[in-house]
Amino acid sequence: MMLDLLVRGGTLPDGRVADIAIQGDRIVEIAPRIEAEAVRVIEAAGDLVSPPFVDPHFHLDATLSYGLPRVNASGTLLEGISLWGELRDLATVEEMVARALAYCDWAASMGLLAIRSHVDTTPDHLNTVAAMLEVREKVKDYIDLQLVAFPQDGLYRAPNGRANLLRALDMGVGVVGGIPHFERTMAAGAESLRDLCEIAAARGLCVDIHCDETDDPMSRHIETLAAETLRLGLGGRVVGSHLTSMHSMDNYYVSKLLPLIAEAGIAAVPNPLINIVLQGRHDSFPKRRGLTRVREMQAAGIAVGWGQDCVLDPWYSLGTADMLDVAFMGMHVAQMTHPEEMARCFTMVTETNAAILGLGDYGLRKGALASLVVLDAATPVDALRLRPARLAVVSKGRVIAESARGDAALALPGRPASVRRRAPRL
Ligand SMILES: [Zn+2]
Repeated sequence: MMLDLLVRGGTLPDGRVADIAIQGDRIVEIAPRIEAEAVRVIEAAGDLVSPPFVDPHFHLDATLSYGLPRVNASGTLLEGISLWGELRDLATVEEMVARALAYCDWAASMGLLAIRSHVDTTPDHLNTVAAMLEVREKVKDYIDLQLVAFPQDGLYRAPNGRANLLRALDMGVGVVGGIPHFERTMAAGAESLRDLCEIAAARGLCVDIHCDETDDPMSRHIETLAAETLRLGLGGRVVGSHLTSMHSMDNYYVSKLLPLIAEAGIAAVPNPLINIVLQGRHDSFPKRRGLTRVREMQAAGIAVGWGQDCVLDPWYSLGTADMLDVAFMGMHVAQMTHPEEMARCFTMVTETNAAILGLGDYGLRKGALASLVVLDAATPVDALRLRPARLAVVSKGRVIAESARGDAALALPGRPASVRRRAPRL
């Protein structure tokens, strides 16, 4: 049999060394040694071969717009929302599509092949939605793009917030979003969650809420989201994004809250790059980190995946489309430095995020979609440390991106001629 593609001798994230045989868009075999001819062979001995990176939280309608119409001077969430409120009416559909496609090129080059993006449904023109639906169609052969109807200015606080969210769902946006902490009152925030969960239940959709993205320890909308998830039987289909207020909550309250989130089957998506810069801006010193309680949620049995949230937009002035940067920051801020925790941070931006998004054909196994990344690193932890070159990115059986190794040539007397900064084996 002549295979389309054979990835030879790579190290899988679990430490196995294996060949991966690909035919069409599927993995047809994984074994220690596969004796077959292939149209193309990727030699991966000594390199890490991973399933693709997955970003469960992004804003593709705003990406690559940093500085438009001007930079965020205060660095706060609220100034970012205000700036975006201007930009979304100034930007044309064509401009948003062009920026999003440019970002998707970056993502493809980094092996980031599935993205869930929130789309602002606030403005009556819904140009944001039109643009992102066009992008979803344009990238579908190489990036799996899920869109969330996100009422940025509030489901009830914006004049046509609810009507426009429903219009976006009718246009083909497939996930229900919300922002309860931005509604006018706590009561309105809770009511928005009841409403949004009922809309999702009636339409058979998933829910992904910007939930309690604030330093206010009394912001407890996640409690209502858990109760509504249980009442409507939405377990496994609901994500609480950010959950930063949990950082500042009373420990006794959290001891009741975490089992409730686990019972409801809600997944959590903290966004460490963004929350480490946005949160705590009203503090003097000591200054809160503002990241939610990651290890504690995992210990309670809650699925937690790292999200990227923003790249070069009104909320974040940097960003690379590299989910290893996201995991690297999360690992530091959440102090996940034990070897098992570092390895888990890699799993969070691959397998865990894929499970949270419900990607059924995902993974390095026979029968799964042939999507994978070959990294210039030996292990998941070393990949996290180095954030290395993606030597090859394969999407649905096709090699869509390749990069050179990160070796440096040295000119040092008595030292090697080149250096590859890999960690000595433990
Ligand atoms: Zn967000």
